Amino acid sequence: MKLPFLDLLRVTAESQTEVAAAIEKTLDSGQLILGPNVVAFEQEFAEALGAGHAIGVGSGTDAIEIALRSLGIGYGDEVVTQANTCPPTLAGILRTGASAVLCDATSSSGLMDPESLAGAITARTRAVVPVHLYGQCADVPAIRAVVGDREIVVVEDCAQAHLATFDGSAAGTMGDAAAWSFYPTKNLGAVGDAGAITTGDPAVAERAVAIRQYADFGRWPAGETGVNSRLDELQAAVLRIRLQRLPDWTQRRRAIAARYRTAFQGSVQPLAVDNRGRHVFHLFVVRSDDRDAVREELASRGIGTLVHYPLPLHRLAAFHGLVHAPVDLSASEGLCAEIISLPLYPQMRDAEVEAVITAVLSASP
Ligand SMILES: *Cc1c(COP(=O)(O)O)cnc(C)c1O
Repeated sequence: MKLPFLDLLRVTAESQTEVAAAIEKTLDSGQLILGPNVVAFEQEFAEALGAGHAIGVGSGTDAIEIALRSLGIGYGDEVVTQANTCPPTLAGILRTGASAVLCDATSSSGLMDPESLAGAITARTRAVVPVHLYGQCADVPAIRAVVGDREIVVVEDCAQAHLATFDGSAAGTMGDAAAWSFYPTKNLGAVGDAGAITTGDPAVAERAVAIRQYADFGRWPAGETGVNSRLDELQAAVLRIRLQRLPDWTQRRRAIAARYRTAFQGSVQPLAVDNRGRHVFHLFVVRSDDRDAVREELASRGIGTLVHYPLPLHRLAAFHGLVHAPVDLSASEGLCAEIISLPLYPQMRDAEVEAVITAVLSASP
């Protein structure tokens, strides 16, 4: 059996007729940038989350930068995120001109550890970026409690958490703003790059709308520089179609995860699921102290696995001198050394799920 980590062709095939028709219609409309599909998608996405405003942008990385800048974050400020996230979280932060500071993750879940965050906050901290990693929401209320009444904003990195919730609140509605990616492999994926910002604050939304397009605040000269990061009409047209399928896809992800969790009892250790929230399983991550053996056994059966992510950010040469790591990061180090992401996507067939289980159990009985 050949079982790739993710078969994007199946994702494409599922809505191909509708998507092709929407693309043709958009081409015929002659409106390719910031037209009716972008406006409609922004509204439909905000409604799906219960967010006040959604602003389409070019990517998730851009969304992090623009969200932070819309909240006034820039040179001289410190922004704290967790050491075990992926490089784009950090890239988005650094592009604002702020300095990046790393705190640790909670070992059991991989989510931001509020206690570690407390140790990373200084007088210059102006923002915290918790990452709803793997599809599970960080404990934003606990993070807010650590921040207290200091002037520190919270920007959720929601790139892996479409339709996730925590304590009844949707991902993307708990912080001062949130950043979304619609990269093709995400739970809601475009057919190219795309992203969005959500916020409940109309003033922040207005700033994001300006910054995504050359900082066009309708006055000239502009008081600050902007970027060019617009969501285009073709991607928005595709996203509108796929957004309708997202609840079903999410349910299927959760069903596969439930099957895995039952089957792996006593074998590899899935990361903890917090029952206060709704995990949407962008990734299904397990721990093993013999990760390479498990990966090799699966590979020998044609089953693809990945590691998200192999190195904590302070270990990446590209970021040396650019990130500060003032606190102990041993939980992130431990996770990065032991985690494996197993195949899990809505179009996976039951027989494939069972094949993954059989392989994992034989590698790690
Ligand atoms: C994918 C991802 C990003 C970056 O999104 P792009 O659209 O690829 O720029 C940022 N943060 C996290 C956690 C991601 O998974």
